[in-house]
Amino acid sequence: MAGRLDLVPWEEARERVIHAVSELAPVPVPVAEAHGLTLATGVRAEEAMPPFANSAMDGFAVLAADVAGASRNEPVVLEVVGELPAGRSVSNPVTPGKAVRVMTGAPIPEGADAVVPVEATNFWDPHTRAGRVPETAEEGRVLRISRPATAGAHIRAAGESVRAGEEFLESGHRIRGAEIALLLSVGVKLVNVHPLPRVGVLSTGDELVEPDATPGPGQIRDSNRIGLLRRIEEFGFPGVDLGLVRDDPGALASRILESLPRIDFLLTSGGVSVGDYDFTRRVLAELGAVEAYRVAVKPGKPQVFGNIGGMPVFGLPGNPVSSMVVFDQFVHPGLRRMAGRLPLRPPVFTATLEASLTRSPGRTEFLRVRLEPEDGAWVARTAGPQGSGVLSSMTKANGYAIIPPEVETIAGGDPVPCQLMRWD
Ligand code: AMP
Ligand code: MG
Repeated sequence: MAGRLDLVPWEEARERVIHAVSELAPVPVPVAEAHGLTLATGVRAEEAMPPFANSAMDGFAVLAADVAGASRNEPVVLEVVGELPAGRSVSNPVTPGKAVRVMTGAPIPEGADAVVPVEATNFWDPHTRAGRVPETAEEGRVLRISRPATAGAHIRAAGESVRAGEEFLESGHRIRGAEIALLLSVGVKLVNVHPLPRVGVLSTGDELVEPDATPGPGQIRDSNRIGLLRRIEEFGFPGVDLGLVRDDPGALASRILESLPRIDFLLTSGGVSVGDYDFTRRVLAELGAVEAYRVAVKPGKPQVFGNIGGMPVFGLPGNPVSSMVVFDQFVHPGLRRMAGRLPLRPPVFTATLEASLTRSPGRTEFLRVRLEPEDGAWVARTAGPQGSGVLSSMTKANGYAIIPPEVETIAGGDPVPCQLMRWD
């Protein structure tokens, strides 16, 4: 285990995680189960969508030339020679002087080149604002059109959404509800995607008891483990609960070893600073190739990162806020890389810091802030005390203000770089 006395800059520590991991090998997954996954291979459509030209309105398929001169005062009269509800495909063709009634989604009958909405015809009842059912077959054949139409009006062309043979989703595209609907619409059954990394979380600490237990003197509840697991799941990654381990090197080593087959990324909480009881660093270093280093950030300075038999492992600090901040800033980008998900790094934008701030410079500081849009610009307000154990400010915050290492004072109203805590 190499030690480092000098502080590693924030971005450098983040990049080492990103570069140490790689995309998980692609697997075929049924489309309906691929939500949240990223395509490892682009998808080509074998069929066009829509597969046939169809009507965008309830109305009448006509020849545009027939109705070019139609107006309210001088309606054009056509003969209705057929009807096509959605789902049917055969009707009489449309020839000069003729029209076919069509419903939304019905194929455009042969010969027609425009659709006149029912609202522009005598089959519309302006009082009920609904289509009118003709009383006799005779009446149903006489169509009066009071509005002109141009060729192509209210027709959805075949292939207007996706052309046959087109690569309509590219490698790297994330699958959501809309992608699933589009894939299913053109008959795609399986997609080649990167699986999500299964993230194991274990806590260490002799002072910790299970969250549902009553702490004895000097004890506290293990809140990091379940909190981190749920935070991991907020981003769609499956969390694996690896339990609570005593500050006992043997117990920690065996818990880690028995967990390895179930996970793709190991997170430990606690025991990474230099206290006498901080075994995590030592045990991880014995099991794998890990490095302990200090990062020029606040909170979350001591970090341990490396791999055990090639599987990435990150030792998070035990302080509750630090563990979450370090997860967000250093671990989350690595998990995104494994899942093939882009962007890897949280977007940074500028907000106005509401109140002034003075601090000792030297480290990048992630302030927990409440970000709110005001008059079209973002304003950042402190979410409360910023101590690394003060979880309440974490719950009040929805973002981080990032104070660069060299900055000592910021005046109220000055711009600061910020990130949202929830992003995609
Ligand atoms: P450590 O990093 O193990 O030195 O712990 C630093 C601080 O975080 C101590 O005050 C611990 O009690 C606290 N802590 C460590 N692990 C947890 C945990 N899983 N849940 C809540 N607090 C923790
Ligand atoms: Mg500890």
